[in-house]
Amino acid sequence: MNTNVNRWFPQPRHCDSRRALLTSAMGIATLGVIGAPLLGVPELSDAAALTKDVRDKLTPDQIIEEMKQGNERFRTGKMSPHDYLAQKRATIAGQYPAAVILSCIDSRAPAEIILDSRIGDTFNARIVGNIANDDLLGSLEFACAVAGAKVVLVMGHTACGAIKGAIDGAQLGNLTGLLNKIKPAVDATRYEGERTSKNGEFVDEVAKTNVRLTVGAIRERSDVLAGLEKDGKIKIVGSMYRLAGGHIAFFT
Ligand SMILES: [Zn+2]
Repeated sequence: MNTNVNRWFPQPRHCDSRRALLTSAMGIATLGVIGAPLLGVPELSDAAALTKDVRDKLTPDQIIEEMKQGNERFRTGKMSPHDYLAQKRATIAGQYPAAVILSCIDSRAPAEIILDSRIGDTFNARIVGNIANDDLLGSLEFACAVAGAKVVLVMGHTACGAIKGAIDGAQLGNLTGLLNKIKPAVDATRYEGERTSKNGEFVDEVAKTNVRLTVGAIRERSDVLAGLEKDGKIKIVGSMYRLAGGHIAFFT
């Protein structure tokens, strides 16, 4: 099984000779432009997942670039044709995800779909308002320090109900405590206009602040992740997904 042929090699200079040979032999060399998705080619279905070797060679910046390109494919309706059964088969023996995503539970922001990623490409942690409590920090630490992921992507989104709830001071069972964790973002958002949940622009500004605060909290409260980032082994990045248009803006 040729495990090197996949789109997680965005830079042609990383192609090894075996990969180049196979790519050429399959007549898809013309697709070998930077970032061209090689998956979806039936002959390559056995290479449908990241391997440790491939993942370990990727840099955090390359992984971020691949996520940007994946979102571009989604946004423009040019998603890779996914053979999920092949991806499932390719990941049975092990997983080597390149990134871990901390995002909201909102049904309109499914990370794998809007990043056009595959089974096995990313860990996904979802919680209302994409905040980082101790258990989520532990999950991110597992993903990076134990399982080898190299990017922590915190992803907020527009029109977030959690942000609206935090602005309104909504109270409901256990949700009250969760929304309280978002409230610092409301206070920290500089905005001159109407500071209510009815003002979509303000809601989205608070969501951005919330992402930045979450990124800061990860660095501040996780010595493990802060240390990995300091050593250049991982990157912790914030982002915002815009429901209208489908674009993810990376805060880099
Ligand atoms: Zn949300």
